[in-house]
Amino acid sequence: RAKATGGHAVHFYEPHMQAAIDARVALESEIQIGIQRGEFELFYQPQVDLHGATVAAEALLRWRHPIRGLVEPNDFIPVAESSGLIVQLGTQVITAACHKLQDWADDPELAPISVAVNISARQFRDARFVDDICAVLDATAIEPAKLVLELTESALLECVEETAEHMMELKKRGIRFALDDFGMGYSSLYYLKRLPIDQLKIDQRFVSDVLSDPNDLAIVRTIIALAQCLGLRVVAEGVETQATSGFLLAQKCHLQQGFLFSRPLPAAAYEQFMRERQMSLCIPRSDAAVDQ
Ligand code: C2E
Ligand code: MG
Ligand code: MG
Ligand code: MG
Repeated sequence: RAKATGGHAVHFYEPHMQAAIDARVALESEIQIGIQRGEFELFYQPQVDLHGATVAAEALLRWRHPIRGLVEPNDFIPVAESSGLIVQLGTQVITAACHKLQDWADDPELAPISVAVNISARQFRDARFVDDICAVLDATAIEPAKLVLELTESALLECVEETAEHMMELKKRGIRFALDDFGMGYSSLYYLKRLPIDQLKIDQRFVSDVLSDPNDLAIVRTIIALAQCLGLRVVAEGVETQATSGFLLAQKCHLQQGFLFSRPLPAAAYEQFMRERQMSLCIPRSDAAVDQ
């Protein structure tokens, strides 16, 4: 802590600031240990298409902390990002997601699924990022188009040249990109034109009140129309009510994601959800009689 010097003391750190810094340093080392111990786990949240079929899932990270229990990303991702640990953690995330895709590829009920993975700006810029992803693709032999990388606008803006370069290289491998939280950042339509983006995700802050707030309604309609004109797929996140879902369906929003369908689920529960859902959507098979 800065020491008082004479009458005009300059305290760089107040005691409460020091406490916050200590807590941050402690969290950093806990994250590091957690990574080594494999305490981080992906949950999966379904994305439903215009026919009501679950065709995709977003992988959302959780931390099974030995004492604190299940910790949500907002409580550890920012520190993982500022400390640089997100690079290591993010590699674990991509590896885990690709292995799930590989498992599911052999299962007729789960095979159609593509998985979206969130990528931090710092991770995406990392010099090894492209090679790491390619290594995982080679090791798992998954269809690259089944992997969707979600980037935010701020991530794109932080380092446009490197980001664009990495996107182009991965695009060549067949990987797809989604622009997450669309509309919240410094959206520039220029990036939609210049970067190989496949999907726009409408931020849930616009979706939640779309039926009661005329401004949100205008924004959501415009984003959907924009995506359709540019030939991009559009995903609405944070869909919580049947009414909102019906509206999005009428607007031909390609995919919907939200608590209405399911919360993010541990992998086993997600698989269970998929099997039950496929069963309820399924028309009787022609060979059904044989099973009796
Ligand atoms: P995001 O990518 O925008 O993810 C959507 C968030 O909305 C998730 O929060 C999800 O659980 C939540 N959500 C989904 N449907 C609904 C709904 O109907 N209502 C409401 N109120 N919320 C809904 P979560 O899981 O807490 O993740 C928060 C953020 O943390 C994510 O926002 C993403 O930016 C980040 N994140 C999550 N996993 C990862 C990861 O593996 N790597 C990185 N770099 N970031 C991650
Ligand atoms: Mg949350
Ligand atoms: Mg996301
Ligand atoms: Mg989002």
